Amino acid sequence: MLRLTTALTAFSVAAPIFASAAFAQEVNVYSYRQPELIAPLTDAFTEETGIKVNVAYLKKGLVERLKAEAARSPADLILTVDISRLASAVDAGVTQPVESDTLKANVPDLYHDPAGNWWGLTTRARIVYASKDRVPEGEVTTYEDLADPKWKGRICTRSGTHVYTLALVAAMIEHHGEETAKTWLEGVKANLARKPQGNDRAQVKAIWAGECDISLGNTYYMGKMLKDDEQKAWADSVNVLFPTFENGGTHVNISGVAMTKSAPNKDNALKMMEFLTSPEAQKIYADANFEYPIAPGTEANDVVKSWGSFTVDNLNLMELAGSRAAALKLVEEVDFDG
Ligand code: FE
Repeated sequence: MLRLTTALTAFSVAAPIFASAAFAQEVNVYSYRQPELIAPLTDAFTEETGIKVNVAYLKKGLVERLKAEAARSPADLILTVDISRLASAVDAGVTQPVESDTLKANVPDLYHDPAGNWWGLTTRARIVYASKDRVPEGEVTTYEDLADPKWKGRICTRSGTHVYTLALVAAMIEHHGEETAKTWLEGVKANLARKPQGNDRAQVKAIWAGECDISLGNTYYMGKMLKDDEQKAWADSVNVLFPTFENGGTHVNISGVAMTKSAPNKDNALKMMEFLTSPEAQKIYADANFEYPIAPGTEANDVVKSWGSFTVDNLNLMELAGSRAAALKLVEEVDFDG
């Protein structure tokens, strides 16, 4: 199987991103998700169907690229994380709705666009990593509580403008309104041990190093750190805790797939979408990346299960996506990263 690992910057928009277009049975993917995760999925799909998968791994500009390529785009599918990125692709007009009984059976209603433009493949919770030494049991309760002065100088987080943070702020807006969300965000900022910087794992490293006591991060990073020789010590220094909204549950986001508007290999693209929601593919997501599988009857990896169960927040992802612009405005207004 031919697989292309391509950085966006390596090609001008006019250059063909895939080496060949002559195979009858192929499907082309633009992916924000990493090769280590996607390769086992595409290998399994090709093995089962004989359909060749070409993947261009992009770091940024995926939607812009699709817009520039328009009807000439070779891409059939977009693979990405976060409801905001999926919603942005829909808003940009580069996706098309998909009708499929298999997808409807495998993806709970909560996790797909009612119109069929995007389909969730896995979930992840945005949780609190807490120092085993410095955070007593029961001290972390709600997201709202992170603004309490008792956390002063004790919180680490990544940038306020990152999609993971924006989704949490959007959820806060949906739960309590903009005014309260702004006060909360100011409170969290006042409690930061350092300016927002680095990725989710860098915050856990900072806890390990004694710079802060708690951080916000996605669940699967715990699994990834435990598998890494250097990072295992960071992971071992923290507990995984599931805060809730005062009037809801734990904040959950998705990874997902969408079919491009101009998909040249529509039938194969649909087959691949359906495959990604199958028990076989869901198990790869669960075991290779420690995400929560989405299809009914599928189970999380044992490591993930060992962190405990939680109540998923009842917020509709479409509503959350609707507040993402307001969330960015708040982050800028309170100068969260400043
Ligand atoms: Fe991530």
